[in-house]
Amino acid sequence: MSTITHAIAAPAPGAPLAPTTIERRDLRPDDVLIDIAYAGICHSDIHQAKEDWGQAIFPMVPGHEIAGVVAAVGSDVTKYRVGDRVGVGCMVDSCGECEYCQAGREQFCVKGNVQTYNGVGYDGENTYGGYSQQVVVKDAFVCRIPEGIDLDVAAPLLCAGITTYSPLRQWGAGPGKKVAVVGLGGLGHMAVKLAAAMGAEVTVLSQTLKKQEDGLKLGAEHYYATSDESTFEVLKGQFDLILNTVSAKLPIDAYLGLLRIGGAMVNVGAPGEPLSYSAFSLLGGNKVLAGSMIGGIAETQEMLDFCAEHGIGSEIELISADRVNEAYERVENSDVRYRFVIDTATIGA
Ligand code: NAP
Ligand code: ZN
Repeated sequence: MSTITHAIAAPAPGAPLAPTTIERRDLRPDDVLIDIAYAGICHSDIHQAKEDWGQAIFPMVPGHEIAGVVAAVGSDVTKYRVGDRVGVGCMVDSCGECEYCQAGREQFCVKGNVQTYNGVGYDGENTYGGYSQQVVVKDAFVCRIPEGIDLDVAAPLLCAGITTYSPLRQWGAGPGKKVAVVGLGGLGHMAVKLAAAMGAEVTVLSQTLKKQEDGLKLGAEHYYATSDESTFEVLKGQFDLILNTVSAKLPIDAYLGLLRIGGAMVNVGAPGEPLSYSAFSLLGGNKVLAGSMIGGIAETQEMLDFCAEHGIGSEIELISADRVNEAYERVENSDVRYRFVIDTATIGA
């Protein structure tokens, strides 16, 4: 039996989100039906609902930070049982056979991974995300949420957590390394917590000093305002790694100037507008400008286990479904502390 579930959808690009119902497919042998408890609001949801990244599929049910409980499993599923606490992130399928899938990097599947929403499954059906009460997902794309992390603060780990964990690991954040996090929003605050737990010396580069106290509590040792031009003088040549989580265009050259020789600046922020830089900002110092997209499924599980071990969850503002449009506006105004999470029980209520 397919399942009808309450959801919140954007009917058209930039239009306010409104309640609706959607259908979830019958369980295939390798499927898991999840009762969603919480769904995080990622800035990527807003970019896509506004079509910042080019053509998107409407109506759109956003949400790729999903935490909930297994309600039913298909006949071949052995990894999960009814009642298990689970999460789903940005992908719900990939070919499983290409060199990247085989290496646990499903986000780079040569056939194209299937996005949790605003995507089309290999069966030709549109995908709908986590702003809903139930979802059906192939077992291989479901992660286990360890005991010790509450589901509400776990939800944002499925995107904000893995998107920052993966580059911090790849670029060696750890003891003796100076890491700057640009932007203290959903991704940024997770980056601060994770980099500090990995043992790095963390600096926050925020537009203002408004969130300084929070930043230091989250684990940063230093905090600077980027609206103050002297910041770029004081911190010149300091960092091994800069993680840029900003959702808007940044003056990249100014930030490259803050790297040590051989240092790397990794962009995870995804503004619709192109970023630009001068070749000389990299040449003078053998610097690296890189990107990073979410993380694979095994790495997502590794991140969840790391968070459980270090007592890390997201800092959240829990909201009811009728406040989603207001939350979108606040995220766009950098007024989020530090992730909005929808209590999905309030959808359709
Ligand atoms: P967010 O919660 O809105 O955080 C972004 C932060 O960037 C803001 O809190 C603000 O921090 C700073 N900021 C915003 N506008 C700015 C501007 N004009 N100039 C300078 N700083 C500005 O967003 P998020 O959910 O963390 O997502 C951040 C970006 O990452 C988005 O573009 C999103 O699409 C992208 N993303 C990428 C991936 C990936 O796989 N690479 C995954 C998820 C999300 P301060 O107030 O501290 O300055
Ligand atoms: Zn996201």
